[in-house]
Amino acid sequence: MSLPSSIDVVIVGAGAAGLGAAHALKKAEASFVVLEARDRVGGRGHTVMASPEVTFDLGCGWLHSADKNSFVPIAEQLGFEVDKTIPPWRDRAFGEVFPDRERERFYLAIDDFYERLAHAAQQGKDSPASLYLEPGNRWNAMIDAISTYVNGCELDQVSVMDIDAYEDTGINWRVRRGYGALMAAYGASLPIRFNCEVTLIDHSARHLRIETSLGTLTADKAIITVPTNLIAQEAIKFFPALPAKLDAAAGLPLGVDEKVMLALAEPEALPKDGNLRGLTMRTEMGTYHLRPFGQPCIEGFFGGRYAKQLEDAGDGAIAAASIDEIVSYLGNDFRRKLTPLKESRWAHDPFARGAYSHALPGQSHQRAVLAAPVDNRLFFAGEATSPNFFSTAHGAHDSGERAAKEALAAFAKR
Ligand SMILES: Cc1cc2nc3c(=O)[nH]c(=O)nc-3n(C[C@H](O)[C@H](O)[C@H](O)COP(=O)(O)OP(=O)(O)OC[C@H]3O[C@@H](n4cnc5c(N)ncnc54)[C@H](O)[C@@H]3O)c2cc1C
Repeated sequence: MSLPSSIDVVIVGAGAAGLGAAHALKKAEASFVVLEARDRVGGRGHTVMASPEVTFDLGCGWLHSADKNSFVPIAEQLGFEVDKTIPPWRDRAFGEVFPDRERERFYLAIDDFYERLAHAAQQGKDSPASLYLEPGNRWNAMIDAISTYVNGCELDQVSVMDIDAYEDTGINWRVRRGYGALMAAYGASLPIRFNCEVTLIDHSARHLRIETSLGTLTADKAIITVPTNLIAQEAIKFFPALPAKLDAAAGLPLGVDEKVMLALAEPEALPKDGNLRGLTMRTEMGTYHLRPFGQPCIEGFFGGRYAKQLEDAGDGAIAAASIDEIVSYLGNDFRRKLTPLKESRWAHDPFARGAYSHALPGQSHQRAVLAAPVDNRLFFAGEATSPNFFSTAHGAHDSGERAAKEALAAFAKR
């Protein structure tokens, strides 16, 4: 598909938000094009075959808040099987490395911690979430580890108000063929120009002038869906500059979360969809999903500073650390049973630069600032702009729909 010279609406980015916006515009029969820097649809939703037997979501995998998740009906419509197996987080623990009694104590401590956070948020007091860790509590380091998985960062980096604003209905499902594969199918019928990196949006004149790696085009309106780190680091520039958007994006950085997939020989020794997590008393630890969907593999998940350190150490470092950790739990025999298949590198990916957004302490209001339209011509979407479902794929999707409605309403007003 060639680049049009002029169009009503340009959507920047073909991730979940861009796809949500595009489908809303398509339904309204508006003229639009999606400009995508990568050669594929989905952004931080990306399914690969890690081996002929193993489907691997390098990015999003869980349909969080599945009873309110807009990708559930989309999956049903497109014939993608939705798997409702209970997630291996609190339940489905395997082995003796984190005995039940200790696990119960840990969950009591973490529940108490989140109650203190909710109470502080009700008082309207924003501060780093780490302030509500009980001094000297033996579980603090592991409570922080959970934050690195959920928020992409340790608790000292995240706002109490932001954690409180997140809506979690507690229902988590999966897409058997992959969340990224679902996004690819959802985007298949859309006008998307791939390998088209937007570098500048000039909004100084009556028409927007959009500079891309494939040339320049003009548009009446633009919906920008790129991750916050790209806005904050000015990978995409605006003229005149938009300092409030830069500040907002900087207050909502993407944290680091990375996944690794290991092939597992003699898989019957381990349960399907089990969880392996050690009683490490450290923040620097992985959490392992045993045989997701019954596949012959183990999926590891790392977050925060530890994930960044491993990713910076280069290809294979996450796999090596996860094999060492699993062997320390299950015994030396497992070293020969595990083979690295694939690991993610989102923090080093130039078009992601991280995993998902969290608000820094004192910055939770920035989600609304980032989401606000500029001059009824520039509209902002993406997971970071979602008021309650930020950091998720469905939050991104819904934000894209919201931005498309704003753009359509602006046309109607003319
Ligand atoms: C390891 C990991 C695990 C996750 N797990 C889950 C999960 O289980 N459940 C869940 O709901 N969410 C999860 N997420 C988060 C989820 O993937 C994201 O919140 C969501 O996909 C973001 O969608 P988006 O459209 O806002 O942004 P993106 O998906 O980042 O889309 C933005 C698009 O813009 C493109 N782009 C960037 N710069 C430019 C440019 N200059 N010009 C043109 N195009 C550009 C990018 O290539 C990208 O395609 C996970 C993420 C990671 C990394």
